[in-house]
Amino acid sequence: MKAGLVARHSGRAIVLTIATAVVLALCVFTSDMPNAMHGTATIFYLTAILLVARTRLPRILVLAGAACGGLTLIGWILLHWGTALGQADLHHVLSLAAVALTTLLVTGHHSAQAPLEEQARILELTHDTVIIRNAEDVIVYWNAGAERLYGWSREEALGRRSQEMLGTTFVAGDMPDLLASGSWSGEIARQRKEGDRILLASRWFPRLDAKGRPVGVIETSTDLTEARRAAAARRLSEERYRAIFNAACFPIWETDLSCLLESASPHALRSGAFDIDHIAAHAVVRNANHAAATLFGLESRTALIGRSLGPFYPPDQADKIRRIWADLYRGARQVEEEVQLVSADGRLVDILLRLTLPDGEDPWRRVLVMAVDMTEQKRAQARLVQAQAEMAHVARVTLLGQLAATIAHEVNQPLSAIITYAKSGRRWLKQETEQAPEVENCLDHIVASGARAADVIARVRTMARKSAPQQDRIDVQDLLHDTLALLQGDLQAKQVTVTLRVPANLPPIRADRVQIQQVLVNLLLNAEQAMSDKPVGQRRICVDIVEREGSIVLHIKDSGSGFEGDPERLFQPFFTTKAQGMGMGLSICRSIVEQHGGTLSAANGAEGGAVFHFALPVAQQQRQADRAA
Ligand code: ADP
Repeated sequence: MKAGLVARHSGRAIVLTIATAVVLALCVFTSDMPNAMHGTATIFYLTAILLVARTRLPRILVLAGAACGGLTLIGWILLHWGTALGQADLHHVLSLAAVALTTLLVTGHHSAQAPLEEQARILELTHDTVIIRNAEDVIVYWNAGAERLYGWSREEALGRRSQEMLGTTFVAGDMPDLLASGSWSGEIARQRKEGDRILLASRWFPRLDAKGRPVGVIETSTDLTEARRAAAARRLSEERYRAIFNAACFPIWETDLSCLLESASPHALRSGAFDIDHIAAHAVVRNANHAAATLFGLESRTALIGRSLGPFYPPDQADKIRRIWADLYRGARQVEEEVQLVSADGRLVDILLRLTLPDGEDPWRRVLVMAVDMTEQKRAQARLVQAQAEMAHVARVTLLGQLAATIAHEVNQPLSAIITYAKSGRRWLKQETEQAPEVENCLDHIVASGARAADVIARVRTMARKSAPQQDRIDVQDLLHDTLALLQGDLQAKQVTVTLRVPANLPPIRADRVQIQQVLVNLLLNAEQAMSDKPVGQRRICVDIVEREGSIVLHIKDSGSGFEGDPERLFQPFFTTKAQGMGMGLSICRSIVEQHGGTLSAANGAEGGAVFHFALPVAQQQRQADRAA
């Protein structure tokens, strides 16, 4: 035995012990034979058996006993077989009895010790510390758990006074009177080899001798330091979470969605085909902060806790809520969705919801929901769209202002014609003989000229119109022709030639016709103005339309001098190189195009001049329907 209560021998020690016992038994046998030492030999046989007993291997021990008994018997046969019974025979019988008895006793002793050995092994295996002290507080047993926790090895600890080494103090006061109480358990603080003090939950029992007198203390202890530290850290982190939760200036709450799993089948959950009203009625708020209560129009967060939120969502939001839950069920840890709710005080609130399934046990019981009130943002967005529309309108009217002279000219021409034809009609009527065909001809010209003037005015009125943005189905080629008709007078006056290259079967786009026309007018007028210093005959605009990657792309190319520097500058508000320019045209054009999901960019052409690329998406459904038609 080393320092433990019981220890087994190593393989080598066992072999050595058995070998020694065998050698001893053979020596006894050979020396007993000629000398007939009798009693002396028996003592050595017993010594051999006791030697083997040290191995603690019961089978080997029985074998050793049998071997020694056998040798005694062989010795008797060889020496005394056939002789008259005498004292020597009695010696051998006694020897045999001694060998058998010793083997039996030692084997019995071993079996009695087996449970003890097992207990000793358990003491070594336990993570707790087990220390046994004698009456003088000297450590007589120190298990592996104690080695690990306190840092002293068994060799260092055994034989030392526990109080000197461990400096035990009792958290709840005085040292316990073990004899009076029979046992004690409580918290103690002790010092480790490294010098730090640790907190332990300890249980002490008195160690009694055979007569029941106290001869020391058996104690077992568990380290509380780590557990306390972990609990404190957990408490701190929970407190922090609660503090952040309650103090957050945005709405945050925890919802119990466990009813979702309980009341719907996995298939229904995955596909979103479950009874939303039933679940909404049972999904209650477990915790909420003040901002959440305010969002729902309630006075305090306690008014929200324990309540179902179902009644706050209008029926038309059911699909969105269903989608959120189905997404969570399908494994998304976080889901975002814009929804509307009606607060307790009747306000319609736009919110962005973010649901998070937390880690840990039973996450569906405390799904974390955060919300951002989007109502103001939505209102601001609407105001921005309106402001942009108004700016675009002002820009359109400004563009028309630039065209005023040619428009007046265009309207004037048919009006002059109307006057001329009316005069000549009157002259025909004044003649004595009626010239009906001539009068009719004059009236036809008057109607046609009136229609021409009305056309021009209609185009101008459309451009000048101020209305909410529409989603028209537009044939781009058609729109381009209309736009060129509006600009025709101006283009002719400046002697600009326009070439169109349009492929057949262009799919239509969905957009606001007036706004897209405004972009075209702006780009064409800019192109025309960029060529004003070019000699007549070299003023050319080429419009190429192509369909590419689900978009209709217009390339508007002119033969002017192009521009200098970064093309992006052209789109900055108030950037202009013109004496009378405002520099808002291209910036407004880009915002119109982007609002329609398109792009507008500029570049210098390879052969001089500028090229504007203007792309608008073809709506997929629209395109399929049109292709099918
Ligand atoms: P404005 O016409 O009032 O100047 P725009 O925003 O329409 O405002 O144009 C901004 C500037 O972009 C113009 O002043 C001009 O310098 C440049 N630009 C626009 N179109 C062309 C073009 N086709 N060629 C060269 N420069 C151009």
